[in-house]
Amino acid sequence: MPVEEIKKLQDEKLVRQVKYVYDNVKYYRDLMDKKGVKPEDIKGTEDLHKLPFLKKDDLREAYPYGLLGTDIKNCVRIHSTSGTTGKRVVAFYTQHDVDMWEDCCARAIVAAGGSSDDVCQVCYGYGLFTGGAGLHGGSHKVGCLTLPMSSGNTDRQIQFMMDLNSTFLCCTPSYAAYLGESLKEKGYKPEDNKLRAGIFGAEPWTEEMRRDIEKALGIKAYDIYGLTEISGPGVAFECEEQKGMHINEDHFIAEIIDPETGEPLPIGTKGELVFTSLDKEGFPMLRYRTRDICVLSREKCSCGRTFLKMTKPMGRSDDMMIIRGVNVFPSQIETVLLKQGYAPNYQIILDRVNNSDTFDINVEMNPDDFPDSPKAITSKEKKLQDAMKAMLGINPKIHLVAPKTIERSEGKAVRIIDKRKRYGITT
Ligand code: ADP
Ligand code: ZN
Repeated sequence: MPVEEIKKLQDEKLVRQVKYVYDNVKYYRDLMDKKGVKPEDIKGTEDLHKLPFLKKDDLREAYPYGLLGTDIKNCVRIHSTSGTTGKRVVAFYTQHDVDMWEDCCARAIVAAGGSSDDVCQVCYGYGLFTGGAGLHGGSHKVGCLTLPMSSGNTDRQIQFMMDLNSTFLCCTPSYAAYLGESLKEKGYKPEDNKLRAGIFGAEPWTEEMRRDIEKALGIKAYDIYGLTEISGPGVAFECEEQKGMHINEDHFIAEIIDPETGEPLPIGTKGELVFTSLDKEGFPMLRYRTRDICVLSREKCSCGRTFLKMTKPMGRSDDMMIIRGVNVFPSQIETVLLKQGYAPNYQIILDRVNNSDTFDINVEMNPDDFPDSPKAITSKEKKLQDAMKAMLGINPKIHLVAPKTIERSEGKAVRIIDKRKRYGITT
């Protein structure tokens, strides 16, 4: 669709969605009244900035039913966030909402080259988490033979992957990396499986990690982004260009704002991503602040899609650690590790001793490159520490640990253990 037509469609849908929310959601109506905005003031996307934001705290305050857009009897499904950053919030779906969300996931599968010829192994968790249900529904819509594995039981995942010739894999990138490791351990080479592509998301991952997964599994690895509040995975998806994710703009408007001031920023500027749903019924969201930091771009894409693109979120604004006053994102640490030849198996431990932050990173050694003397380990630790210092500006203490000693996650990886919280430090 030409960009002008997308804008026209968004204008029409926005006017309708704002009126719908004002009429049906008291919580948001109160926010609009407080700001002095009436539905008639919103004539199109250029008026979007007039609307109040919704934040995660609003969702927690309105929990569970306060932001419902329709009678509960019209809803057919509930999902909840993973609770990565606090109390879980719940979202409601009507059948129309489920269909729209599954269409978005189907687009992601097709953009990654999927078709009804594929066997799609879904090992995102099934249940309250949106990962399993979303990709499962998308896989059905595309007509793939769907293998609803859910997460965990790696031996069974591998057995079915090999016996049933899975060609598509859907899971978190950390689990994809773990599957790669496990296949290798079992003596399989990347070319032994029939996988062609994988769709990985729900947590941050780096380009280096993409290359590692592609090599280990012998596939093309595509990114997918989404969040429960807006629907689930498939809000944005990667195409064959593998350079940023197209946002499903016929269903969602994306904005970038300054996370400090809330001011909208021009396209191409780094800031916090904000979404407005355009046709949701159960849980419509106007100007929802995702806390994910990224850059939008309207550059022409070689795949021919005209939807706006977003970069990989560079971490959430609340994933950011402030260590000795310096802002540090786990993605920076991961980039250094992969560049230095380590797998992304690490854990960051923060604590406070004598009023000063301690910053330790446990990193698993590579099974193929296992130093044989304590001196060699110390020298490797020093090298890694210097590379971290160059990237972060502060010095972590690196501890190389034996392979497979850091607990693997079947869903989202747990990268940060912040013991400073016991002193009430919450950054
Ligand atoms: P929670 O906020 O509890 O983790 P969700 O399960 O709904 O709840 O996860 C949504 C969040 O997951 C997003 O806001 C984003 O931070 C992260 N996320 C989802 N997909 C990606 C991706 N492809 N890359 C980086 N982060 C992602
Ligand atoms: Zn594209």
